[in-house]
Amino acid sequence: MPKDRADLPPVEELLTAAVTALGGVERPGQVKMAQAVRDAIESEEHLAVQAGTGTGKSLAYLVPAIRHAAESGDAVVVSTATIALQRQLVDRDLPRLADALEGLLPHRPEFAILKGRRNYLCRHKMAAGMPEDEDDQLFDPREVSATGRMVQRIQEWANDTETGDRDEIVPGVSDQAWRQFSVTARECLGAQRCPSGADCFAELARERAGAADVVVTNHALLAIDAMEDFAVLPEHDVVVVDEAHELVDRVTSVVTGELSESTVSLAVRRAGRLIEQGVADRLQEAGEDLRALLAVAPPGRVDTLPQSLGMTLALVRDAAFACITALGPRNKDKDDPENAGLRKAAFTALDEVHDTAQRMLDAFGPAAGHAGSGDDAEDTGDPEDSRESAASRGGAPGGGPAGGGADARSEEVHRAEVVWLEEGRGRVPPTLRVAPLSVGGMLRDKLFGDRTVVLTSATLALGGSFDSLSRQWGLRTGEWTGLDVGSPFDHPRRGILYVATHLPQPGRDGLPEAYVDEIAELIEAAGGRTLGLFSSMRAAKAATEALRERLDVPLLCQGDDSTSQLVKQFAGDPATCLFGTLSLWQGVDVPGPSLTLVIIDRIPFPRPDDPLASARQRHVAATGGNGFMAVAATHAALLLAQGAGRLLRSMDDRGVVAVLDPRLATARYSGFLLNSLPPFWRTTDPAKVRDALRRLTAGS
Ligand code: SF4
Repeated sequence: MPKDRADLPPVEELLTAAVTALGGVERPGQVKMAQAVRDAIESEEHLAVQAGTGTGKSLAYLVPAIRHAAESGDAVVVSTATIALQRQLVDRDLPRLADALEGLLPHRPEFAILKGRRNYLCRHKMAAGMPEDEDDQLFDPREVSATGRMVQRIQEWANDTETGDRDEIVPGVSDQAWRQFSVTARECLGAQRCPSGADCFAELARERAGAADVVVTNHALLAIDAMEDFAVLPEHDVVVVDEAHELVDRVTSVVTGELSESTVSLAVRRAGRLIEQGVADRLQEAGEDLRALLAVAPPGRVDTLPQSLGMTLALVRDAAFACITALGPRNKDKDDPENAGLRKAAFTALDEVHDTAQRMLDAFGPAAGHAGSGDDAEDTGDPEDSRESAASRGGAPGGGPAGGGADARSEEVHRAEVVWLEEGRGRVPPTLRVAPLSVGGMLRDKLFGDRTVVLTSATLALGGSFDSLSRQWGLRTGEWTGLDVGSPFDHPRRGILYVATHLPQPGRDGLPEAYVDEIAELIEAAGGRTLGLFSSMRAAKAATEALRERLDVPLLCQGDDSTSQLVKQFAGDPATCLFGTLSLWQGVDVPGPSLTLVIIDRIPFPRPDDPLASARQRHVAATGGNGFMAVAATHAALLLAQGAGRLLRSMDDRGVVAVLDPRLATARYSGFLLNSLPPFWRTTDPAKVRDALRRLTAGS
């Protein structure tokens, strides 16, 4: 074991030791990636690495990361998008790697997992029995008893848990049940003031992370750490972002604000116990106005602010501010932790309502942002105002996608945030949301500003270039390098990309009959073994229904059971097929003969009424770019590459990716999409593909 940092073995030697100990073989792409990560850390230059499935990319970044931690004494942060990868790193890769490298480093590498505070059981909330936040009147009795059972399971688990980590609870529990035992970072009293601070699970997790060489976290916490003024993660100068193709979406979720009848009611319930009734009633009334307005509004993007919505948002904001003022100074109860907890919870909910209402008003420009009575709501005079007036007369705040016009386009250039209305579902009421048009500037300033970032995924080079994603991350030329280490799989020999050019283009009215026939013929040739990736749940269900009558292979559809259970069943029986939508595009890892055919029904463009994607597209167009290519085609390329990536999961796998949408071969943007996919052998001949599938099935 080297005694000091100067004696550390080079990255190549450590990687060889790790690969040998783990029983693997040296892979050129893995060595190349490990060297590039080492160089990026040394030169402090950001790096984007595309590493195909089978490269062994986690070892390729963990080895140089651990070496850097041993050398510098600082932790390296590894961020993932999914719990599955987090678990793989913490439960499998890191323990084995620590064993393998122990004798070669000054100390055994330590690692820890750190999540956001709301993921840990809050001992104070549990002990103090903080008042119930949920509005029981909204529950139906079945939901109440289901939640009651979950609450009981959490209480039993709480007696034994050593980590307090929600993910330990199997099967999982609903957010509603969990909220009764957890607090957000803003609601937390702080370890110094909290009576349970010394035993706090979140604090213990932070402590463990502070002593670790590698801290595994998720993109959401990484974003919060970068954006907040206080540190959430231990001090670090290197971050590895795995599953980096998800970074922009995850960061956007973190910074999306929402306002609805529920968020206002929650604030009223929390504040109502602590302030004069009349002040709380004013907020309650403003919340009721909002509910009435949103109930009749059409869902979708809100391009211009109707006067009625401007007035209501201003009412909500001002009523929330009055409640905040009535609560008094924020540190009033510092020696009374129980009361301090109630006040902190009230402040958090009120701040959220106030700040989100203000943010929504600001999204429409300074005049709207200063709206007091609504009299000064924005009047742009552009053609969209006619829709606004109609909407206002009917009490509706929203509108569909804008028709355009010069003024609207110039507004797009300056607008920084998008507001849209999501329709209510079940117990969830209609909800207004606000999100930034781009998170690139934020990432550039806050994440990339003062640390070295390595971004990696199997899918980063879209259309053969990293430019689309690097633009979304806010990185400029010269600030980063890109590297594609390829894949150990022999794609042209082991996989076929078939585009069904003889089929009609997909329409708006569900799955065309010809598509159902084509899917049936392909599945028959493959003898089952098919993963069907559909662009909507409606199409997945329609295909399942139609084909269950025609085929005699077992056909599973997402939603029949938990996705993990369905994937298990699919993997366990080669004759079985599994159909589904978004979570299957990225989350299925089934090596072996059970997955020989991947069928994709259509190019997965964002829906035309997707508020954020359509606003981003318009914004790019308004600033002189190609909005379709920058947003819709990039989104589709990423998902297509992820979907096609389900086919080859091990060196022995073979099979076919069948895309039924003929536009993949014929449209003007098809080159960009095709260049985003692995280099499979390509054909448009259905007979050839069916023959190949029959041969594969006979040979397995
Ligand atoms: S410090 Fe915060 S999270 Fe921890 S027990 Fe206290 S209130 Fe809960």
